[in-house]
Amino acid sequence: MHIAVIGSCNVDITVEAQRRPHAGETVMGDRLIVSPGGKGANQAVAAARLGAEVYMVGCIGDDDYGRIITDSLKESHVHTDYVFTRKGTTTGTAHITLAEGDNSIIVIKGANAEVGPEEVDRAWDMISTAEIVLLQYEIPMETIDYVVKKCAEAGVKVLLNPAPFADTPEEWMEKASYITPNEHEAKLMFPGMSRSEILSAHPDKLIMTIGGDGVAFAHEGEGEVVVPGFKVPVKDTTGAGDTFNGAFAVARAEKQPMKDAVRFANAAAALSVQKIGAQGGMPWRSEVEEMLS
Ligand code: ADP
Repeated sequence: MHIAVIGSCNVDITVEAQRRPHAGETVMGDRLIVSPGGKGANQAVAAARLGAEVYMVGCIGDDDYGRIITDSLKESHVHTDYVFTRKGTTTGTAHITLAEGDNSIIVIKGANAEVGPEEVDRAWDMISTAEIVLLQYEIPMETIDYVVKKCAEAGVKVLLNPAPFADTPEEWMEKASYITPNEHEAKLMFPGMSRSEILSAHPDKLIMTIGGDGVAFAHEGEGEVVVPGFKVPVKDTTGAGDTFNGAFAVARAEKQPMKDAVRFANAAAALSVQKIGAQGGMPWRSEVEEMLS
């Protein structure tokens, strides 16, 4: 039993400063933090720490940032056989300035823009035998389209995490087994529709995360269900959604019933928000089991 994640690998380069510089100005900052991220790699790490066999499919540049990513994937026991190194391209990076209580971010897609059908085909023997395939929107939309259609033909389940928000074609919603927007993304995806209208149109498929409140979805025969989040002291919610997605995929791959799978994933995500960093806070299996016991 294994899980495939086809998505982005980034290095987050965060600078903390008292204030951000104006155009043409230089200011002294306080601290530099370099940490592995990218929704794809984050979800792969979350799933692998919870005990699944996880294969990452993605692209990195031939640079030190790429090595930061493969090292962090390997430390969490993610298989990196299908993380392809692209010469002449940089690894994806997010350049974050944290000042005056706010983030400003510039993202360079770099090698993430090169995750294409060819890479999917090279990994296809692994993807086609996966229990579930995870996708997010930080790689080209043509690739998402290719994977969604190819997996549907082959009868492979797809979890589509529509983040960061982009238009999601109706066909993808039909073909995916799970769609996991947060509340904000769901509103943009279904303009003018109420929460219960959105959920009831996609029972047991549209899983809406609602921050500290947990998760809402429509359960076959039961209507709208809210599985409450765990009340915990929050330090940093970066990566909460990624932890949720990785954990939910693991639980469903293990055939846990829907409500149990959501509760399992809520617990994993609640553990992650208690620590700083996207991947830094992601829990291992024993921590989640302890929380649920
Ligand atoms: P995203 O991180 O993608 O914006 P959410 O904010 O909806 O998504 O969070 C995803 C999941 O993380 C939630 O469904 C919940 O399980 C967990 N979570 C988020 N914020 C908190 C919080 N303050 N306390 C406990 N759990 C949280």
